[in-house]
Amino acid sequence: DVYTPDPTRYESMEYRRCGVSGLKLPRIALGLWHNFGDDTPLANMRATIRTAFDNGVTYFDLANNYGPEPGAAERNFGRILRSDLSAHRDELVIATKAGFEMWNGPYGRGGSRKYLLSSLDASLARLGLDYVDVFYHHCMDPDTPLKESMGALATAVSSGKALYVGLSNYDGPTMERAMGILADLHVPFIVNQNRYNIFDRTIERNGLKETGARLGKGLVTFSPLDQGLLTDRYLNGIPADSRIGRDGRFLQASALTDDRLRRIRGLNELAAQRGQSLAEMSLAWLLHDPAVTTVLVGASRPAQLLDDLAALANTDFTDDELARIDSLSL
Ligand code: NDP
Repeated sequence: DVYTPDPTRYESMEYRRCGVSGLKLPRIALGLWHNFGDDTPLANMRATIRTAFDNGVTYFDLANNYGPEPGAAERNFGRILRSDLSAHRDELVIATKAGFEMWNGPYGRGGSRKYLLSSLDASLARLGLDYVDVFYHHCMDPDTPLKESMGALATAVSSGKALYVGLSNYDGPTMERAMGILADLHVPFIVNQNRYNIFDRTIERNGLKETGARLGKGLVTFSPLDQGLLTDRYLNGIPADSRIGRDGRFLQASALTDDRLRRIRGLNELAAQRGQSLAEMSLAWLLHDPAVTTVLVGASRPAQLLDDLAALANTDFTDDELARIDSLSL
């Protein structure tokens, strides 16, 4: 089963510079938080990765703890890299992160130099790589001096184990302080990664979106479909093969309140009027925002990813449509 990538793969995808950096990212990228653990058949993971690369998705987003079990997504992606993409390493942006709990004890989470650098080494070993393109601090850690965490990111770059660094789940003021430290250390900090979707506007309130844009940082948004809620997945109950149906770790049936379903149905009607699926419209709503570099989708099968990629065909909204979306938001 030898894989030959589609020679037209760069023709339909759009790429955008990540902030003021020289790194161009695909407007839609693939995240491996779900569907790449040891509970998913390798053939399915492989098909999804191939579909992504065949369509110009060059950015693959991982973290030390993605699974289940933690570490499995990096291991599985490493396997697929070796079997299918080893000749294409220089066409790929591979990102990983450390911050949330990865192993027991005081050095298995947070922002210490001890944790971040040993975790990066472990990630590289699982991936079978000698460097990642982007290494993110996954979350703020108030127990560690920011200088120490940023110093660890600087070492990741100076040791050749990461080309760029990013911050994830930071708020505006903390990110701006971190940027000052990273600038002093001459670290190529180019990107913030935060949750942003029609239902979750936190980064509009905590300063991250405005500050990131002002400072010239790229913005990669995660859970753009609110883990599947902003799709047609749950319009008529909970399918057994859905994230709520088969996983339940991070998205539970309790999220599907009557009020939420009413909003999802209203958004679905608006999407239909635009000639889009709800997934397409939800992604288009983010892509339409000049502050957003890339939306990071998850996909449990190749067909979903193809639908998601179709969002690029129409990212224009009328003022009325935007107001209607706001009125159906939370
Ligand atoms: P999404 O909001 O895109 O949710 C993905 C899920 O939506 C899929 O698993 C699938 O659900 C469903 N879906 C996707 N496309 C379609 C479609 N076209 N039609 C119907 N259903 C669809 O993103 P995730 O929550 O998965 O997050 C994406 C990535 O963001 C992660 O993989 C990770 O890389 C990153 N992330 C980063 C975090 C951070 O702290 N930095 C935290 C969370 C995520 P189903 O499985 O039910 O089929």
